[in-house]
Amino acid sequence: MKERYARNLSLPGWTPETQQRLAQAKVLVVGAGGLGSAVLLYLAAAGVGCIGIADGDRVEPSDLQRQIIYDTDDLGKAKADAAARRLRALNPQIEATVHRTRLEAENAVRLIDDCDLVLDCTDNLGARVLLSRTCLQLSRPWVHGAVSEYYGHVTTLLPSGPCWHCLFGTQTAGNPTPPGILGPVPGTIGCVQAAEALKYLTGIGRLLVGRLLVWDAVPAAWDEFTYTKNPDCPACRTEKV
Ligand SMILES: [Zn+2]
Repeated sequence: MKERYARNLSLPGWTPETQQRLAQAKVLVVGAGGLGSAVLLYLAAAGVGCIGIADGDRVEPSDLQRQIIYDTDDLGKAKADAAARRLRALNPQIEATVHRTRLEAENAVRLIDDCDLVLDCTDNLGARVLLSRTCLQLSRPWVHGAVSEYYGHVTTLLPSGPCWHCLFGTQTAGNPTPPGILGPVPGTIGCVQAAEALKYLTGIGRLLVGRLLVWDAVPAAWDEFTYTKNPDCPACRTEKV
């Protein structure tokens, strides 16, 4: 363990107890696509003890352009299984739990109730709205990431802070045609999500709470927008327990 995590353990503020905290942490990664690839690999490599993977899809040829957790040999396999296999090969000291399903109203409470932190690596609004609602209901923190074409953004939602709807309002639009996505964009945003997760689990650093970090690859520009709790927000005002 000492050797595997040597570069964690030589970080400022990172003690053997910090590493132990990670080993005992339980996270759920919703969506094992482009964002999920980066999140899953880095959390497993860092030594997060229990990683749940929720995805109901199979690996398709068009996924391989950006979903770097998969190989060509994984085509046609269930993503949750293929991703779990890759994580176990990367770090046999961690546990990867397979949920061969999308996040749905029927399973959201059961999946999320069981973990310390949720990573939103989904590609659709419906799943995000459900994730937001369930995390508010169960008082769970989550890290939201989203990408489209050359652009991506990321923010961290704590039960006590502003919620996703405080930031985005009450969007209910359906899913548009899948957009083009520059492969490194979900890789980059997923890496920021993984860093936020490690910071939350170890208590190190300042989280992206009330801050939306945006990256646009076209001008190669990072931007940050701050947001606050909306006292009239229908989601966190009425649904917070
Ligand atoms: Zn709110």
